[in-house]
Amino acid sequence: MSLSALQRNQARLEELAGRPWKLLIGGELTAAQGGKVYATISPSTGKTLADVPFAQATDVNSAVEAAERAFPAWRDTPVVERVAMLRKLIAALKENAYDLALLDAADLGSPITAMQGDVRLACILLEYICNAASEVKGQSIPGVGNNWHITRREPYGVVGRIIPFNHPLMFAASKIGAPLVMGNTVVLKVPDQTPLSPLYLGTLIKDIFPPGVINILSGDGQTTGDTLVRHPRVKRIALTGSVETGQLIQRSAAEVMIKHVSLELGGKNPMIVFPDADIDKAVEGAATGMNFHWSQGQSCGSTTRLFLHKDIHDEFVEKLKQRVERIRIGNPLDPETEMGCVVSKAQYDKVHLYIGLGKEQGAQCVTGGGKPDGDQFAEGLYVRPTIFTGVSNDYRIAQEEIFGPILSVLKWDDEEDVIRSANRIEYGLTAAVWTRDINKAFKAINRLEAGFTWINGSSTHFVGVPFGGYKNSGVDNEEGIEELYSYTQLKAVNIVIA
Ligand code: NAD
Repeated sequence: MSLSALQRNQARLEELAGRPWKLLIGGELTAAQGGKVYATISPSTGKTLADVPFAQATDVNSAVEAAERAFPAWRDTPVVERVAMLRKLIAALKENAYDLALLDAADLGSPITAMQGDVRLACILLEYICNAASEVKGQSIPGVGNNWHITRREPYGVVGRIIPFNHPLMFAASKIGAPLVMGNTVVLKVPDQTPLSPLYLGTLIKDIFPPGVINILSGDGQTTGDTLVRHPRVKRIALTGSVETGQLIQRSAAEVMIKHVSLELGGKNPMIVFPDADIDKAVEGAATGMNFHWSQGQSCGSTTRLFLHKDIHDEFVEKLKQRVERIRIGNPLDPETEMGCVVSKAQYDKVHLYIGLGKEQGAQCVTGGGKPDGDQFAEGLYVRPTIFTGVSNDYRIAQEEIFGPILSVLKWDDEEDVIRSANRIEYGLTAAVWTRDINKAFKAINRLEAGFTWINGSSTHFVGVPFGGYKNSGVDNEEGIEELYSYTQLKAVNIVIA
């Protein structure tokens, strides 16, 4: 362990966490109504990192009003000028990358190196949005007689953007890009558990964008999030979060008015390995597919249901066990750490609940199943990568999203059966197929009910390639040109030529 780098990071974190934490409303950094705050806790120490503002309904109203006031001028700002401001934000992210990654590592529990990767990824996604912005166009449609038609893409107005805890800075920065370049103004609700880097982002945004174009609120789902969703001046809502929250939000929005609600939700994703697959590469794919390194398995796209053909099952499990046991678990602030801890006590308890359920229902825990040994892990919410074999498709560890480092292995024999089993679930976010036979691969991919799929791959997203879910995993797509279109409404214009 490189103690000096760890000590430097701890010292810098103390300076950063000690700064005042404020909401961004109408271009001003401000406290919440009545000075209400809540504590954000570091999962690696169990200690309070900082007290952050708890935005109340009145704060949400102020933010929406500021966004509404800013809208007409922002809508009429040429797209190249909007893009130029977004590029300034990219430059500011790069300049502050180390501090942002440090805040995420401490607040979330993911390794600092992974969080530096998140800042880079946010910049790449924003860069894509900048490049794609002027490609969003209307059409010219031939008419009959002296009629001619064109379509225009127009912004909605105020957009409410709600994000989850697992990639705080990456989501906060990249998911405001598409609504903004399309001419909307934004109220961003940051994650309850990991508010620090998104609030820090507010201090950078303040000096780049006109007041009110972006407003940033920390708080909870019930008060802050729900007020935003129900606000009648918020025309468009986008959530990245759990299925339960997605259902709540669709219902709450509909009680007020008809809104465009896009949802990027949870997953319980299959990876199917055929007997002819390159076993060593597939073992690596199964390990990276679990995102142990990036987020301790707290990733929506993780391939958490591993379907192994019976002929390769035992060899595969043994190699995978050895592979995940080599992962270096440690303090998230240490640059040598490969896997940190889960985000909160609630998440930690949920993971242990499912470890218990797996054993109770008859699965075998071949590795992991609890904390790593050592005093350095005593205070933190660490969980070893855990593999269950002998899992039946109806076990709860095969059907429910755990959002932690728990992998369920299911044995298969028949090609038709395995596709049916993979699809027998409420989710449909991602799926992976590993085989050297392209015909088998396509046959399986064509029938798998998932919005993002890999052949001989796992985990990786690609900029410009749409990501989104089937079934309960969501509505709409992001990370491709579709995301930009989704922040516009389509107006048809009929022109009568004299
Ligand atoms: P969550 O659903 O608990 O919370 C997400 C956000 O919604 C938070 O900001 C929260 O405050 C807010 N919220 C909660 N209740 C609300 C309500 N009633 N009204 C308005 N807002 C409300 O999710 P989480 O625990 O932060 O994140 C984990 C979940 O997110 C997992 O299910 C994961 O699969 C999913 N996720 C999906 C994607 C994707 O791209 N599909 C990406 C990352 C995470």
